[in-house]
Amino acid sequence: NIRDTQPVIRQLDDSAINRIAAGEVVERPASVVKELVENALDAGATRIEVTIADGGKTLIRVRDDGCGITPDALPLALSRHATSKIDGSDLLNIHSFGFRGEALPSLGAVGRLTLTSRARGYEAAEIRVSGGRTDPVRPAALNSGTVAELRDLFYATPARLKFLRTDRAETQAVTDIIKRLAMAEPFTGFTLRDASGGGEGRVLFRADPETGDMFDALHGRLATVLGREFAENALAIDAEREGLHMTGYAALPTYSRGAAVAQFLFVNGRPVRDKLLMGALRAAYFDFLSRDRHPAAALFIDCDPVLVDVNVHPAKSEVRFRDPAVARGLIVSGLRHALANAGHRASTTVAG
Ligand code: ADP
Ligand code: MG
Repeated sequence: NIRDTQPVIRQLDDSAINRIAAGEVVERPASVVKELVENALDAGATRIEVTIADGGKTLIRVRDDGCGITPDALPLALSRHATSKIDGSDLLNIHSFGFRGEALPSLGAVGRLTLTSRARGYEAAEIRVSGGRTDPVRPAALNSGTVAELRDLFYATPARLKFLRTDRAETQAVTDIIKRLAMAEPFTGFTLRDASGGGEGRVLFRADPETGDMFDALHGRLATVLGREFAENALAIDAEREGLHMTGYAALPTYSRGAAVAQFLFVNGRPVRDKLLMGALRAAYFDFLSRDRHPAAALFIDCDPVLVDVNVHPAKSEVRFRDPAVARGLIVSGLRHALANAGHRASTTVAG
């Protein structure tokens, strides 16, 4: 026996628990932006403004015009497993992005977090937490909505700081996650600014709220995110298979890209980056594209929540379909059909 003392089992305190949870949720600035923007969307925001500095390493600020948080609820928003989004009775039927009540306490454990908010009919208030220590709520100045600000990500854990990539690469990852959420929510306006030099910052991405029906709005947002030329050459997709419904747009093979940078997949409204779905997308274009080209598409798969688990992991955007073969078949056959039809139309037009 190599142990000479009896191990003692103890309950970890909140601060340790939050730091451990943060290890799961917060990998890099883009994961912070994802959590904060999802909170803004859950709050019903119509405009969301994100400001970062130094790739998000020194500053991430998300401002929204959503429902806000009442002063008395601010400490609760920072406590673990506290959420306004579910009551715990039906975990299979979740319509919000968040529901775990883990993001804000985790962020408070890995950086200096300030939450300023004003709910309708209340005064504005703010709460700060840093190094796991929470200050009392105090009055603040804000017209409406919420501002969540995280400074000095990983300042207390140099080992994790070291794993971050260059400011440029982290900024790119932040831009990417905002574009994905902007595609998922075309009726919401998004602005991303880089304030590395101080001041208000330089606009890196901007998408005004779209109007009209869902298809129009999506098409407009597609043009903003992927370019007008892409949008003008995208085929509208609408296909169904065994309870899974796929809508969206897929670009003609002639508008393919040199890298897989224009592939947006959503399951029940959430951006996902799932190997199975990405593989199916590639397979659908196999006969239409040379090997070094990548298809461009924005596809939305919607189904009864019992057919898919979108919450396999808190940070990774994987999904688990009850029948993966059906999901793959839907994408492959739905897109092939649309592409073949388009090719047929094109050749008959040329032929006169
Ligand atoms: P979750 O999103 O899983 O509920 P979070 O830790 O991200 O957990 O947030 C905790 C709670 O704080 C939310 O349930 C919500 O009530 C409140 N909250 C967080 N961000 C916002 C926001 N931008 N606007 C309004 N309420 C918010
Ligand atoms: Mg959340």
